[in-house]
This record gives sequence, C-alpha cells and structure tokens, in this order.
Amino acid sequence: MADTEYDFDLFTIGIGSGGTRASRVAAAHGARVAAAEEHRVGGTCVIRGCVPKKMLVYGAQFAEDLEDCQQFGWTIEGKSFDWVKLRDHVMKDVGRIEGVYTETLEKHDVTLFHEHAKITDEHEITLASGKVVTAKHILIATGATPHVPDFPGNEHVITSNEAFHLDEVPGCILILGGGYIANEFAGIFNEFGSKVVVANRSDVILRSYDFSMRDRLMQISMTKGIEFLFRAEVEKLEKRDDGTFAVKMTGVEERTFDLVMAATGRVPNVEGLGLENVGVELGKRGEIKVDEFSKTNVDYIYAVGDVTDRVQLTPVAIREGQAFADSVFGDVEPYSVDHSCIPSAVFSHPPISSVGLNEREAKEQYGQVKVYTSDFRPMKNVVAGRNERSLVKMICDGANGQILGVHMIGPYAPEIMQTAAVAVKAGMNKADFDATTAIHPTVAEELVLMK
Ligand code: FAD
Repeated sequence: MADTEYDFDLFTIGIGSGGTRASRVAAAHGARVAAAEEHRVGGTCVIRGCVPKKMLVYGAQFAEDLEDCQQFGWTIEGKSFDWVKLRDHVMKDVGRIEGVYTETLEKHDVTLFHEHAKITDEHEITLASGKVVTAKHILIATGATPHVPDFPGNEHVITSNEAFHLDEVPGCILILGGGYIANEFAGIFNEFGSKVVVANRSDVILRSYDFSMRDRLMQISMTKGIEFLFRAEVEKLEKRDDGTFAVKMTGVEERTFDLVMAATGRVPNVEGLGLENVGVELGKRGEIKVDEFSKTNVDYIYAVGDVTDRVQLTPVAIREGQAFADSVFGDVEPYSVDHSCIPSAVFSHPPISSVGLNEREAKEQYGQVKVYTSDFRPMKNVVAGRNERSLVKMICDGANGQILGVHMIGPYAPEIMQTAAVAVKAGMNKADFDATTAIHPTVAEELVLMK
C-alpha cells in the first residue's frame, strides 16, 4: 500500500466529522495518513455545532420542566439560572470530546498538524509553518462557514460560532434567518429569558420541512413569546454608545437589540485552500464539485462533508468520509453514499423531526397520496397544564400505501424518528405500521395508531 514516492498516502485537510472518520478508517486500512486542522480537532459538530448546541437545548428545556413539575407535586424554591456556569460546563465537555477525537487519531498513527493547510502544487501541501509535505491522495474536508448578509454594520453581528461564548444572555436578541439554526437558537435564548425576534427575508421558516410542522412550531413559538418578522431584511445596523444596536429592517421601524445573530446559511469553506493551484472545480454556490465517490475533477483529490454542499449534516459527512476511505484504501469494491431519505431534526422547543418527502413534494412526485395525521396533547403536557399540542403526519403513496414521509413535532420527536426512518428507508407500508402493536402510553404509539 505504501507509496514512498510521497510522504503520505493520504493528507486530510480539516479534522471535523468527515475528515476524522476518513483519516481514522484510511489509517486502519494501512494507509500512512497525515491531517491538518487549523482550529480545533472535532470540527463544527463537536466544537461549535451539534454537540454544544444540544447541550444548550437540554439546559434550556429545564426552564419549562421546572415550571411544569409543580403540577406533578414538586416545589422548587429559589430557582435561578447561571449562564456562565452552563457555558463553561458545556465548553469543558467539548474539550473532553476534542481530547477523545485527538486520542483516536493518535492511536491510529495519524500525523496531526495543528495549523492551516494549503494545496500548493500537484500532490503538495504547504502548512502555515512553512513545512511542505506530499501525499498520493488529498482529502478536502474543510466544512462550511457562516454566511453573514452584506449590510452596513454587519461587522457587529455574531454567528453561531460566537453564540456559545457569550458573557451573558442578551436581554433582547434579533436572530436573522429562518432555518434550523435560527429556530434552535430562538428556542434556547427564549427559554433562558431573552426577548427573541426572528427576522427572515422570505415568508416562511424551515422551508424544506412539511408546512404543518412549520406552522405548528411558529404557533407554539409565538405563544412562548418569540416574535417573527417576515420579508424583513436588515438595511443597516448601528452600534450605539450604550452597546445596544439600532437595526433598520425593510418594512419595520428602527428597533433596538442587545445582540444580533446571523443564522443565514453556511457557505463551503474553500478560501485559502489553494484549489486554483491544481484546478479543482467549484460549483455555483462555491462548493467543491464531486462525483458519487466524492472524487473531484482532479484524479487524486477528493472532498467530503459540508464543503461539497450535498447535505450539510454530521452523519452525512461521516458516511461520506467512511465510503471514501473504504473505497480508496480498503479491500472492497468502491461504493457511494445514498443521499436519499435522510432523516433530520430541528432541536427547537418543541423539536421537529422528519424523514422522506413532505406533503407538497409527495403530491408533486406521486400525484395521489394519502395523508394520515394525529394531532394530540401529550399526557405530560395535559397534567402540566401546558397547552401545547403535538402533531404526527404520515404521507403514503395513494396507489400502494408505501410510506413516503413521516413528520413529527412534539416531545422526543427526533428520538422517535430515528426508528421510523428505518422503516421508511426500507420501503415499508402503512399496513406494516398498522400491524405493529403500540407501546402504551407513549407519544410514539401515535405512529402505529393513525387511521
Ligand atoms: P467540519 O466539521 O466543519 O470540519 C471542517 C474542519 O476543517 C474545521 O474544523 C475547520 O477548522 C477545518 N479547516 C478548514 N479549512 C482548513 C484549512 N485550510 N486547513 C486546516 N483546517 C481547515 N448537523 C447535524 O447532523 N445535527 C445537528 O444537530 C447539527 N447542528 C448544528 C448546529 C450548528 C450551530 C452548526 C453550525 C452546524 C450544525 N450541524 C448539525 C452541521 C454539522 O456540524 C456539519 O454538517 C458537520 O460538522 C460537517 O462536517 P465536515 O467534516 O464537513 O466539516
């Protein structure tokens, strides 16, 4: 396997979800692997994405649980919330996970460079320190970076990168965007006591999700005090002497906020990579163009994860990294990742989860569809006196009952959906769900009881 013409068999740029998996697996297949990471080992998911975000979501949920628990007989006196304590605890655990990732790579003899890497010539990588190495294969796994819209004063805006490190919870926050990151942070800050305004330039939130789920989330979020502005783009933002921000948006009078956060999409991270030196082709959105095996137009250069802008999710980056490493360095027939039917979640309050087609897509693609819904108040909410309803929706092919999509909003929705996704991916029918006995009393039983 070793090709001594080069220093390494594989050089991975970016040690996030995709790069870590690919490097570790390639090394396990016997490849001599080196990797560069310019920020922190673990990448977006571990350091400033899924992991710390989910920890904040857990922390935020206690605001509701501590209120609801009174109806279950609990008395909590003198409750208070300490943001700095949570923030530091989350960051400590992030550091622990970073250590685990580093250890795993070291155990697999992956040579790690903690610095920026750039492709400077054919098979050649130059590190920020000036060190030059060569590799038979190069994997680009540099992820994506937050996009901040262009408007006067946008230098004052934070992104999710900074949101994890705030000194305090803002009294009043404006969140720009309508995607999952905007809605998740809206929920987090709202539960921590901020006044939250979500401003979106279009007229819907969570565009790719089923309309019934988005409507339900908006309804519930508004009941909880989150304000939504639509067709509202920032025209200008000014920092005042007292540290607050005056924001003028289209169709909205100037308003004052303590903090403005942009959650307006993530763009492939290709700057400063030296792709022009070897002629790697980019797509319209700046993404690295790859074939089904994650190979670029340059024969020895591959790319996985967010930088290819296929589906920007951690499990997808990991699968792509695994498939690349097995296919190039393993003793298997090259194989590709199936990007269809990928389940996903929005960790809002309450969360949404989804797999397969939404109702609009299903109607467009199949014409005749049958839609089953269950709209109910979970038992816990009834006892707690929380007037918050859950919704489950199953969309089936009208011709044969095959399940095309399942969508859910309510407690535990992401946990439940993972299992339902297996059935949808396997091409099961509504009849298979009907034939399955319910686990009672649960929220999940609605999935097999829909008529
Ligand atoms: P990344 O994990 O971003 O790793 C890329 C790495 O490359 C980075 O560490 C970067 O520092 C490094 N790098 C870049 N350029 C260079 C260079 N030239 N030299 C050296 N190093 C370089 N996904 C989910 O599935 N579930 C979630 O709940 C979820 N929540 C999210 C919440 C937030 C706030 C964000 C921002 C993202 C979230 N995601 C979630 C998306 C998920 O984090 C990404 O899809 C995933 O991390 C992509 O992995 P990757 O390997 O492509 O890139």
